[in-house]
Amino acid sequence: HTPLHELDPDVAAAVDAELHRQQSTLEMIASENFAPVAVMEAQGSVLTNKYAEGYPGRRYYGGCEHVDVVEQIAIDRIKELFGAEHANVQPHSGAQANAAAMFALLKPGDTIMGLNLAHGGHLTHGMKINFSGKLYNVVAYHVDDATGQVDMAEVERLAKESRPKLIVAGWSAYPRQLDFAAFRRIADEVGAYLMVDMAHFAGLVAAGLHPNPVPHAHVVTTTTHKTLGGPRGGVILCTAELAKKINSAVFPGQQGGPLEHVIAAKAVSFKVAASEEFRERQQRTLEGAKIIAERLVQDDVSGAGVSVLSGGTDVHLVLVDLRHSELDGQQAEDRLHEVGITVNRNAVPNDPRPPMVTSGLRIGTPALATRGFRAEDFREVADVIAEVLKPAYDAQALKGRVSALAAKHPLYPGL
Ligand code: PLP
Repeated sequence: HTPLHELDPDVAAAVDAELHRQQSTLEMIASENFAPVAVMEAQGSVLTNKYAEGYPGRRYYGGCEHVDVVEQIAIDRIKELFGAEHANVQPHSGAQANAAAMFALLKPGDTIMGLNLAHGGHLTHGMKINFSGKLYNVVAYHVDDATGQVDMAEVERLAKESRPKLIVAGWSAYPRQLDFAAFRRIADEVGAYLMVDMAHFAGLVAAGLHPNPVPHAHVVTTTTHKTLGGPRGGVILCTAELAKKINSAVFPGQQGGPLEHVIAAKAVSFKVAASEEFRERQQRTLEGAKIIAERLVQDDVSGAGVSVLSGGTDVHLVLVDLRHSELDGQQAEDRLHEVGITVNRNAVPNDPRPPMVTSGLRIGTPALATRGFRAEDFREVADVIAEVLKPAYDAQALKGRVSALAAKHPLYPGL
């Protein structure tokens, strides 16, 4: 029994049940991961008690000598990790990081360009009822239906027509790498800032397994909890020239007191991200995604109308295309849930089904790689997913195979 169980058994029971869910099922939501216990220890520390408005060495509160140390460590580590001139580690989330970066660079009514939500962009890249769609004039670019890849000719044409103040390159559901140099060339041609949102692939970049956007972009935003594997949170990286603007947009522009306990946890996760063990994990992440993509284009599933957007993957996720399948995104998500695999349904470009149903699945490998999954385990997972997506499947047998994989790679064994 812990103090939480004593004080609040209701919340404690839900937390325990969630731990059991994470341990006993296979987490394949592409934006999720398992933070190390040390990261959770930092996040659960007494730093949660501290107000620290301002930045290290320049605070509006007394008693900040220790949180100053923590925040400076986080800043120094992430600058080093990505080769950035400046870092702000205070954004409470990825959405807050994007809001602050846009607040720093734009005025309401300015034009921005971002990848359309249904084509893989994020809400904060200009979705109609998000702040980004309400405050700014949005010109969305798309993926090419034939290749499944971002249509750079369209990006260039739209940029020249609409003269945006900011171009956002980045995605939440896209299985390929973006050409940051091409984005920057286009941004320079029209006098726009280039902002790269690397929330999804930051861990791959840190491991040197994906091109680094930092040398190309004016501003790079990220979350810290996806491939990066840290606590839930956001970060903004930028050039030295934009440092002041970005800092004042985060505080006092968008936020009040920083979450120093989360910043401590971010610092710990940046140390992990610089390690050889982390690089090896990101390699298994990529390998796992490739194995799943290759399995889901084989005849037995393609015969059931299943395919993979863009034909494969270069990153940590696979986008399953169910436009020609009897199964819709909701049914496929439910079936996988039934056998113990958690994924999310996802709209595909030009999706014929409604947004709450969709014709796609987004399947990610970061959390399983963190759990220790290797190629042979990913082959087994890929096969279970393939079986589930066929018209007839044996749920009980597949559930057993999922449980065996979960048991083979225990999660949080000490908890
Ligand atoms: N940017 C991208 C590309 C994302 O995929 C996400 C989250 O899914 C975010 C930003 C927002 O992050 P958060 O959920 O922490 O606000």
